[in-house]
Amino acid sequence: MHILLTNDDGISAPGLVALYRELVSLGEVTVVAPESAQSASAHAITINAPLIVQEVHVHNEFHGRAVTGRPVDCVKLALTDLVDRPVDLLVSGLNDGANVGINVLYSGTVAAAAEGALMGVPSVAVSLARGEELDFARAARIARALIREMIERTIRPGMLLNVNIPNFEHGNPKSVRVVSQSVQSMADPPVAHEGPDGVRQYWLQGKYGPVSKTEETDLRALLDHHITVTPLQFDLTARDVIEEVRGWDWPAVG
Ligand code: MN
Repeated sequence: MHILLTNDDGISAPGLVALYRELVSLGEVTVVAPESAQSASAHAITINAPLIVQEVHVHNEFHGRAVTGRPVDCVKLALTDLVDRPVDLLVSGLNDGANVGINVLYSGTVAAAAEGALMGVPSVAVSLARGEELDFARAARIARALIREMIERTIRPGMLLNVNIPNFEHGNPKSVRVVSQSVQSMADPPVAHEGPDGVRQYWLQGKYGPVSKTEETDLRALLDHHITVTPLQFDLTARDVIEEVRGWDWPAVG
């Protein structure tokens, strides 16, 4: 089992290191990750600057390749050039902060896994919800158990599984729930104040309003202290709308 490990928090992030320590018991782990923090970079790639790759030794734990780019750049480079042996599984994480609901669209962690899946590698994104404390070691042990099950059940090429682990401040996670992604929007207004230079600044809060108690979504299940697993796809076509739009009276052009 050859595992490619990446993330969006940067190659020396504690979540990645914790996950590395656990994944080595499942197989050989190759690390290719962003040199610096790239959270909320979504599926961005670098097209107007070169990418530099540097061999780094992280916390006396492992050697990896640090890339001066986005998480998706790392996956592209790794799978097309840097890694000369077939990759059986891509793992992205362990992210500092949950990636449920609409955050899935903003997430660099999920995007890295999505790129892996697009390139035909079974891929998993793993995130830990924020709380008073972030116990990455404990979350990584859970992640290893989940990933072991995925391997045993033969997670297939192209499959993309998004895993979120609740924060442990309320005790052990209650169970593993396989749920759909919430599409509830964040309607929160940005916080605005005047900076020291007199220029008005805006800060996004990224907070949700009240979440439905009845809908079985990743957002709800994580709030209820369950581990969530959501299979994702990247075909964004709205199939229930395509026929309607096809039937519109499109002008003859050309
Ligand atoms: Mn992140």
